[in-house]
Amino acid sequence: MRPFGYVKPLDVDAAVLAAAAPGAKYLGGGTNLVDLMREGIEQPDTVVDVTGLPLDTVEDLPGGGLRIGALVRNSALAADRRVRTRYPVLSQALLSGASGQLRNMATVGGNLLQRTRCPYFYDTAAACNKRGPGSGCDALDGFNRGCAILGVSDSCIATHPSDMCVALAALDAVVEVRGRAGVRRIPLAELHRLPGDTPDLETNLASADLITAVELPPPVAVNSRYRKVRDRASYAFALVSVAAALEVQDQTVRQVRLALGGVAPKPWRAREAERILLEGPAEESAFRRAAEAELAGATVRQHNAFKVELAAATIVAVLRQLSEREARV
Ligand code: SF4
Repeated sequence: MRPFGYVKPLDVDAAVLAAAAPGAKYLGGGTNLVDLMREGIEQPDTVVDVTGLPLDTVEDLPGGGLRIGALVRNSALAADRRVRTRYPVLSQALLSGASGQLRNMATVGGNLLQRTRCPYFYDTAAACNKRGPGSGCDALDGFNRGCAILGVSDSCIATHPSDMCVALAALDAVVEVRGRAGVRRIPLAELHRLPGDTPDLETNLASADLITAVELPPPVAVNSRYRKVRDRASYAFALVSVAAALEVQDQTVRQVRLALGGVAPKPWRAREAERILLEGPAEESAFRRAAEAELAGATVRQHNAFKVELAAATIVAVLRQLSEREARV
């Protein structure tokens, strides 16, 4: 590992100032950054350790929402009673990610900014536009079974790895950011970028921007769920995942939120499917129609075409389960 400087500021202003130096990088739980530094993929001059900042609480917001500090650990957030009862989709997504040990270390802010697990990104002998802009992409004609099918470009087909972010996308979360010009609030849907010609630029954050909190609006439906489809039962990234919230009255969909993971370079809000479902019949044929419409624009490669049907089937299964639960209530 390349030598680097280390600072541990104790207030947010000092952290932002320290991170404004060229080559500085924030360190939270370190579950992704330290691995990348060991591999020589990330080579910061200075690590700004933010774990001493007072950003580790979950607070109620007026009207029923929650404000989640960026340093709240994934395990603590999953176990929070308010999250489990008001936003079960978020608790389930967090518990499906990584191992118990990693969830105890990983922070909300770090989870938002974790980097792709595309194997070519981690192989420094491979061509990767994300790691080395302009070098090419060995995944395009390589082993691309885990790669994305929505929102891709000819420069990069990597998926975003987070489970938590898929739930946050479905919940209309807003990310609070402190930068050199003050505080900004960014809808989660606008935090991550699609690759286009610049897959190395993954978010709309400026250098030194520090994520300080995530805000959740009041839930539109208490009935919500996260389902993750993967090769192993634990400690594996999603081939496909679905986060959904559904409210049904008189067998008609009154509220629906739907987001997908494992299929796109960012948490994928399924707005076309939502549009088709809203105020329509809560029945399987409508769920299937909405899923197929959302996936109609998929671009598949040699090994990942199976994700289209897998994603459609998972969307239908989750919506069916939620609608059956609604019918029993
Ligand atoms: Fe790199 Fe993206 Fe290609 Fe993977 S898919 S090798 S991350 S450019």
